[in-house]
This record gives sequence, structure tokens and C-alpha cells, in this order.
Amino acid sequence: TSVVDWAKSDAYHNSFLIHKDDDLDFAVKNATAQGLPDIAVSPAQGKWLSLMAQSIGAKRILEVGTLGGYSSIWMGKTLPEDGELITLEINGTHAKVARENFAKAGLAAKCKVVVGPAYESMTGLQPDVPFDLVFIDADKRSYPQYVAEAKRLVRKGGVIIVDNVVRYGLVNDLSVDDIDIVGIREMLAYIKEDKELDATTIATVGERAFDGFLYAIRK
Ligand code: SAM
Repeated sequence: TSVVDWAKSDAYHNSFLIHKDDDLDFAVKNATAQGLPDIAVSPAQGKWLSLMAQSIGAKRILEVGTLGGYSSIWMGKTLPEDGELITLEINGTHAKVARENFAKAGLAAKCKVVVGPAYESMTGLQPDVPFDLVFIDADKRSYPQYVAEAKRLVRKGGVIIVDNVVRYGLVNDLSVDDIDIVGIREMLAYIKEDKELDATTIATVGERAFDGFLYAIRK
């Protein structure tokens, strides 16, 4: 069998389903120009996050792991006038680039970056109105703590999406003891015991190769 070029597969589907967006293009170029790593979600995944946000009518979104704000912009564009996205980032340069990208996208008022270790930022949040959607996409070793805090911060019926939970099948390969992979396993064990979370993993393939999202709702 021939080796499938999954980036080409994404590009084919995107050519029908994803329209050109100057703000997202600028965000990618600006992030690259300022030396940020190329680890944002793919366009198809960004669109999927945007559709998820729209399908639950999300007004308040929390993101863990900003990078240059690419996924934030996808979700931020779906927010109503009085909507808000708070995104947590430990790296000051990443946060600066994200703020520039939000300004270019006209999202500076709606999308706010909080700089610092995400777990501390999360535990410091005491929102009057809980979040509708939490997207977790930062250091994998902290995923159990992030999911626990996300559950505290999301409304009943709200959604938690966690990126990079499959990692080429390394997560189910118990001979792999990398701390980030262990973090994902511990997150799964946490969710298994949690009576308020209902979740599934959807493995994905595309330009970001073999990985997957965990999709959870707070019952
Ligand atoms: N969600 C972004 C997107 O798709 O455009 C990509 C986020 S990138 C995969 C992960 C980000 O998490 C990096 O910018 C990294 O600096 C940040 N990060 C890593 N550890 C962190 C921590 N403990 N607290 C907050 N942010 C962290």
C-alpha cells in the first residue's frame, strides 16, 4: 500500500470547507516571524473547535495554552458581542504575539491572555458566571490538574476538550514512561473515577499526523 500524505488529505478537504481568513493567516505569519514553534492546531482542527463553540452557543470560553492565539482566534470569532475568551500562557513572548494577533483580528476586547503557570491561573479564577467551554492544550504532564480545575470552572452541561491525547498510540503503550504521556494516562484514570464527567476520545489524522481529542461534558 502507498504511504498516505495526510497533510494533502487535509488540504483537499480544507479546499472545500475552510475559507481564507486574513486574521488567521496573519496570526500564523506573525507567530512564525517571531520564532514561535509550529505546534498550533491545524486549520481543520481550528474550524472544528469553532463549530463546537457555536454548537453549544458558547459565550464564555477558557483556553489553557495560548501559543500565538491561533486556536483562540478560531473560537474567539464565534463569540457574541458580550462573549469572552480567557487564554492562559506561561511564555511572555507567546502571550505578546497572541495579543498582537488578537488586535489584528479585532478581538482585543474579547480575548484576554493571562500570563503565568496555567494551574495557578486556573485556581485563581473565581468567575461569577462559569465557562461554557474549556479547551486544554498545554503541558500534558499537568492534564489531570487542568481537567480537575476545568470541571470546577465549567457550567453543568458545559464542554471540556483536551488536545493531543493519543500521541501516535504512545499513550496506550505502557512501556513508554515519558512524563507527558503519563500525564495523559493519569487524566484518563481521573475521568474514569469522576461521576460528573462523561467523555470519549476521538483519534484524528491529518497534517498534525496521528493524535486525538478528548471530548467531555460535565453532567
Ligand atoms: N492552543 C494553541 C493553538 O492551537 O494555537 C497551541 C498551544 S501550544 C500546543 C502549548 C502552549 O502551552 C505553549 O505556548 C506553551 O508555552 C504553553 N504552556 C506550556 N506549559 C504551560 C504552563 N504550565 N502554563 C501555561 N502555559 C503553558
